[in-house]
Formats: sequence, structure tokens, C-alpha cells
Amino acid sequence: MLGLMQDQPLLISTIIRHAARHHAAAEIVSKTVEGAIHRTTYAEIEPRARRLASALRQLGTGLGARVATLAWNGHRHVELYYAVSGMGAICHTINPRLSTDDITYIAQHADDTILFADTSFAPIVAAIAPALRARLRAVVFMTEPAHMPDIALPPGMDLLCYEDLIASAGDDFAWPALDERSAASLCYTSGTTGRPKGVLYSHRSTLLHTFASNLKDVFGLGAADRFLPVVPMFHVNAWGTPYSAPMAGASLIMPGRHLDGASLADMMNTERVTCSAGVPTVWLGLLQHLRASGKRLESVERLIIGGSACPPMLMRAFGDEYGIRVDHAWGMTEMSPIGTYNRPKSSNADLPPEPAFRLREKQGRAMYGVDMRIVNDDSTELPWDGTTSGHLQVKGPNVCAAYLGDTPGSALDAEGWFATGDVATIDAEGYMEITDRSKDVVKSGGEWISTVQLENIAVGHPDVAEAAVIAARHPKWDERPLLIVVPRPGITIDLVSLRAFFDGKIAKWWQPDAIIVVDELPHTATGKIQKMALRDRFRDHLMPPG
Ligand code: AMP
Repeated sequence: MLGLMQDQPLLISTIIRHAARHHAAAEIVSKTVEGAIHRTTYAEIEPRARRLASALRQLGTGLGARVATLAWNGHRHVELYYAVSGMGAICHTINPRLSTDDITYIAQHADDTILFADTSFAPIVAAIAPALRARLRAVVFMTEPAHMPDIALPPGMDLLCYEDLIASAGDDFAWPALDERSAASLCYTSGTTGRPKGVLYSHRSTLLHTFASNLKDVFGLGAADRFLPVVPMFHVNAWGTPYSAPMAGASLIMPGRHLDGASLADMMNTERVTCSAGVPTVWLGLLQHLRASGKRLESVERLIIGGSACPPMLMRAFGDEYGIRVDHAWGMTEMSPIGTYNRPKSSNADLPPEPAFRLREKQGRAMYGVDMRIVNDDSTELPWDGTTSGHLQVKGPNVCAAYLGDTPGSALDAEGWFATGDVATIDAEGYMEITDRSKDVVKSGGEWISTVQLENIAVGHPDVAEAAVIAARHPKWDERPLLIVVPRPGITIDLVSLRAFFDGKIAKWWQPDAIIVVDELPHTATGKIQKMALRDRFRDHLMPPG
């Protein structure tokens, strides 16, 4: 027997309709690329998103078409999230920090047909457009006519202005009733191998993730919150917050590209921000600014830290010196992204200060909708005793089953578990703590660097016989790439030439921080380089003494 409740699909358009009707005056405040502050409300955003959807339809965008963005956090990017997904197309947010080669690959792989870009990314657009001419029909700069960049696009590719598009569109567009399992947005992650892989979220997975992330022991945003996502909208949809804030009626304060400590502190104080989220590197910059300037954050109650392990120092400094609670969260692009969030249980209430603090350092408890377990190399489940480490696996309706273009279910094992590539313990109360990583990558300031790509380039150098890149700990960026090379017999490696060999082949910030020359690398019985052994030996190579 079926239930007798109203049968409405879980659609992204319902979030913005709800916000516009029930939180009409909640604000979206954006620092634009030009530097000015722009203010709007959910009541104004929703009809503009419908006009944009109507314009996209006029441009030939159909169900399932991929519409790409290269943009910072701002009101137009929010409009795009709702316009594109709401009309049944797929909002593909591209990370502008990747190399132009990777961006081109991603846009081709996703089959993007229209690209929306902030004007500050005009040089990237100019660099990638020729290679995308076969499929990309138009580039729309997210600005007014007066600020349109002067760039040449290949013949057949239109150059359009965002505000012109909105002005020219009718406002009679109605959000369609889509199948809630339809694809809604697409993010690429460079997680484990050389080339980035696409994670394709559905309306249903997005709505379930949004409900769950708004539980009290997760983001728990409310209508009185003014939330500032430092995490970019091109990183797993800013951890889903452009959905969770309007669902809760919280205002969104959008910093654009101004992510340094001074700009963030100013915006937080002038816009009375209550809560913010981002990676550790950003909070380190903010802390340094506060300490140097003597300023305080006047309205911020809570900072959410994830993307990399939160240094305990940050938790203590913000808590003790500024009275701001720091919450630790863990997730992955493949999980929409929230997996765990750290809030105490009633059973933890009587813990003395130090054990209570030690508990808060962990990555946290599973959010509703996420199941997790740790297993050994034979996939046997390991105990939740807080000391046994194992491969962390996850399951749930917000977890990726296959990457774009791969066969259905191919990202899962026979029992439907997704391997995170993280190594963790889980304690008796379900608090997970990451202890290591089995995937071979570097995460620098919240951004991935592919060790495979760096190694492939290094071994292409005539002086190099063998190369390995490992993640070395770094005081500012959390991790940085360290290149370890073995010279060809009888050759002394020319380090200057080896460094220069990377130029133009990778994004500048992927350059290894240091190169170490060794006589040989450790190998497994099957001939693979033993990265773990190298990490044990050189992990602290970039850390200051002591
Ligand atoms: P991404 O898909 O870029 O969000 O990266 C996900 C990966 O980042 C995870 O699998 C972890 O390796 C790492 N990560 C994310 N959050 C944390 C955290 N709080 N502590 C440690 N590692 C984290």
C-alpha cells in the first residue's frame, strides 16, 4: 500500500521558491569582481533565476545539457545554480585554479555547451576557447555591459553579457516538474589519479544532503544566521551551502575573490556574519591578520573547518583568544560532500577539558544519510575501538556510485561501499578520526595536486631515472609536493633545469617545493615505489626545525 501524502519530487527549484516566499528579505551580499558590494534578496534572486532559465532555453539549452561556470562566490553564481539545475540542465562548476590543460580536458569531458565566467577569468576563457570550439556555443561574462572584457572567441562561439541576457528574457518561465533523480550539478575531483573525474549529483541527492546538513549537529543554519562561505562554489558546491542557507532562510555573504585575512575580517564585521566555513589555510590567514591588527570578529559565533585536518592550534586560538567555536567536519566531493561533523553527545558532557578538546579534534560523527565503516586489506570490518585503523568506506544516497562516463556502480565494491582512500579509526561512540591516507595525492590549501602528473613530468627529464612525489607537511598550506629523484647512472642532476622542466606543463602552484636527490627509491615486491616509506622518512622535510 502506498502512502497517501502529496507526491512532490525533491527538486532544487523548491529551495529557492521556498526562500523567495518565506524568507523574502534574507540577503545575498556579494563583493563583486570589480570590488563593489552588491546587495540583493531571495525575493529578487528567484525571478532573476527564472529569467536566466528562460534565456538559457532560448539559447537551446535542453534537459541534461551541461552549462559550465568559472566563477567566484557571488549572487550571479547563486542565480546560475538555481536557473541551470531548476530548468533541468546540469550546472558544472569548474575550478579555475586548475591548469588550462586540465580545465580544457574537463570542459570537453563534460561536454559543456555554454560557459558562464567572471570577468577576472577572461584570460582562462581566451586560453581554452579554441580547443572547445566544437561544442561550446557561447561564453557569457557574469557582468553588466559596461564591464564586458574585450576578447576574441573562435568563429561560431557567441560572446554574451549576463545582464543583457536577463534583461532580454521574459518572466513567464515556470520551474518544470522534473524526475528528482535527474542530474542537477557536476563537480570534478582530482582525487586519486592523474585526470580529474566527474561526480554527478541529482536533485534528490542534493535535497537529502541539504536537509541532513541543516540538522542541529551539522551546519544547523537558521533564519537568523548570516553565513559566509569561504569555501568556493567550485569546490563541491561550496559544501552545499548555497542550498542549505536558503532552505533555512539564512543570508548568504559572498566574498568573491577576496579571501585574504583582512578582507574576510572586514566583510565579517560589516555584514555581521555569524557563521563561516572553509579550509584550514584560510583560517590561518585570518588568525594571523587578527593577531597582527588587534582586530576582533564582532558577530562570528562559529567557524566550520574541513577539507583538510583542522590543526588543533586553530581550534584553541579561535576559542581561547576570540571566543569563537570551531567545528571540525570531514567529507569528499564524492559525498556531496559532508560525511562527518563533530559535535558532542550528552554522554561526553562530563569530560574534563583536555579529553573533551581531544574529542573535538576528531573528524566527527556520521551525518544522517551516511553510513561508514573501516576495513582491513581483505575488506573485513574492523572494530570501533578508537585505536584500530582501517580503510574508511561510506554508503548512502548522497554518495557517488560511478564517475561520469563510467559504468553504473563502478565506484562501489560488491557490497555497495565506496572507498574513500582515507585511513581512519572509529571509536565506540562513532567518532571517526582520519589517521592517514591511502590515496596518493597532495592536498595543498584545500586543492589537489596530482603526484602522478608530477612524477610523469619528472621522469621525462633526461637526467632522471626514477621519481616519486609525496605530500610533505607544510605550516601554511597543510601539505606541499616534495619531489624525490634518482639520477641516471653517472649523471649529476641539474636541479635548475629540472625545476624549469615543469614550467608550462602544470599550474604554477603545483611546482614541487623541494627536490631531494637519492641513490635509490624503496620498492615493494611487485616493483611499486613504497610511498609510505618515503612519507615516513621525508614527511617533515618542509617543516621549520622544532
Ligand atoms: P575533496 O573531494 O576535495 O573534498 O577532498 C576529500 C578528501 O579531503 C578526503 O577524502 C580527505 O582525504 C580530505 N579531507 C577532507 N576533510 C578532511 C578533514 N577534516 N580531515 C582530514 N582530511 C580531510
